[in-house]
Amino acid sequence: MANFAAVNITRMQNVLLHCCCAPCSSAILEWMLSHDVRPTLFYCNPNIYPAEEYRIRKDEITRYAARLGVTIIDDDYDHAAWLAQVKGMEQEPERGARCLQCFRMRLLRAAEKCSELGFDVFTTTLASSRWKSLEQINAAGQWAAQHVNENPLCTHPVRFDDRNWRKGGLQQRRNELLKENGFYNQLYCGCEFSLEAMQRKQANLADGPSHTPSCSLSAPACPSSGE
Ligand code: SF4
Repeated sequence: MANFAAVNITRMQNVLLHCCCAPCSSAILEWMLSHDVRPTLFYCNPNIYPAEEYRIRKDEITRYAARLGVTIIDDDYDHAAWLAQVKGMEQEPERGARCLQCFRMRLLRAAEKCSELGFDVFTTTLASSRWKSLEQINAAGQWAAQHVNENPLCTHPVRFDDRNWRKGGLQQRRNELLKENGFYNQLYCGCEFSLEAMQRKQANLADGPSHTPSCSLSAPACPSSGE
């Protein structure tokens, strides 16, 4: 079990956990529940394309949350609004400007929901994936918290917990839980641009592994991330 030197989520504190998918959420949820932290999950992923892929990922985390007895809040799926937010960045590579904007959009919604619910802290399962830039995720989370807190109408300030959820054995535990639960094997990060990149890779590879999966069981150390 993970043993963080500095744990800044306190026992029983109200925590909103932005979740991208069941695989990325599993070890974090296990850690929280074993430390008397019962988070509320917030599913906000309008980046996912197509809608069927969105539904599959959402249904899986919803089922998993129900099994654990954890509340999950489903945010709107407005992919058109997401596309408008990343307009002009379509050709950016993963970990580029489009991804930062994508994190900002989702974490701003999480920060707003956290404040609205009167919770003190929010964090995200996005940070569990080693395929994503931790720096980008943390910058987006801090920006979102600041944006909400500086709003003159804000009645409940929030804090973003920027811990590294890949450490303390959680990366390994995530992979174990992925296998144990037989989670849906996500092959790309989420948006149509990551889907196209994955398809291009598949087309270019004559032999060997056919892709660099986002949450695949087949990649070492769980590339993970559903996003
Ligand atoms: S690749 Fe992933 S993080 Fe980047 S914009 Fe697409 S869905 Fe968002």
